[in-house]
Amino acid sequence: MSEELTHPTIVDGWFREINEMWRGQAMTLKVEKILHHEKSLYQDVLVFKSTDYGNVLVLDNVIQCTERDEFSYQEMITHLAMNSHPEPKKVLVIGGGDGGVLREVIKHECVEEAILCDIDEAVIRVSKQYLPDMSASYKHPKVKTHIGDGFKFLADYKNTFDVIITDSSDPDGPAESLFQLPYFELLEGALREGGVITTQAENQWLHIDLIQRLKKDCGKTFPVAEYAYTTIPTYPSGQIGFMVCCKDANRDVTKPLRRWSEEEEDKLCRYYNAKIHEASFILPTFARKKLSA
Ligand code: SAM
Repeated sequence: MSEELTHPTIVDGWFREINEMWRGQAMTLKVEKILHHEKSLYQDVLVFKSTDYGNVLVLDNVIQCTERDEFSYQEMITHLAMNSHPEPKKVLVIGGGDGGVLREVIKHECVEEAILCDIDEAVIRVSKQYLPDMSASYKHPKVKTHIGDGFKFLADYKNTFDVIITDSSDPDGPAESLFQLPYFELLEGALREGGVITTQAENQWLHIDLIQRLKKDCGKTFPVAEYAYTTIPTYPSGQIGFMVCCKDANRDVTKPLRRWSEEEEDKLCRYYNAKIHEASFILPTFARKKLSA
């Protein structure tokens, strides 16, 4: 008889996302079956099948994506940047090992090359096995993959990319350096003229001080640095945000520079559209005040 897998975060059949980054609250998901567990070189990697959210990827006890709601995050972090650039040809994804951001990048026909650099081969490997809709992008001929630290990888590139998307885990772990000023300086240097970046920038209910610091650091590096957010049930407090920055001081990233027709939007996306692009930059008063202070 095969031995049932167990995991300390799963108690009485429920995964519990308990973490000091969101003290005193926790997302819980009902588990149907643990599919995979390992300690990789960098993090604890868990995949389980949930009863209502499909397969779920968890790194260091934090939900990274679920099959049911991942499209909200992947589409927004990607198309906010891609549609703020006139013609993105060369695109870099830092992190993003599940492949979901790559899937969105290659929806843009102008892309000639999409490179992904994730620190952990285990994430890519388990995503290929358990998250097929996201990881199918790895088979696309325009996609190249590199395993390594995003910070070190970027240091080798100058004036190379049109868009860089940082789809990182939270700053408490291997992604810590991806939330610091020197990283934003590397991003700026690796972009071509007029280039655009988006980075995962946490939740306004929980991390407003961190977001304020990110916005200031991005503002020191880029002439345009705006915060936008999306709704997503399985990230803490049901929202996650992004810094959207551009090298061109005259670019307004809050309005899409390129648009799909409504028919194309309906075919290509389940969350992103031109109206939600604009709406995602409109913040509630408490956040707007804090971020403009
Ligand atoms: N969207 C998710 C979220 O906000 O929770 C993040 C998903 S994605 C799977 C995060 C990826 O960032 C992981 O695959 C992790 O291995 C990668 N990562 C963390 N630190 C990194 C670093 N320094 N360089 C490159 N990739 C990194």
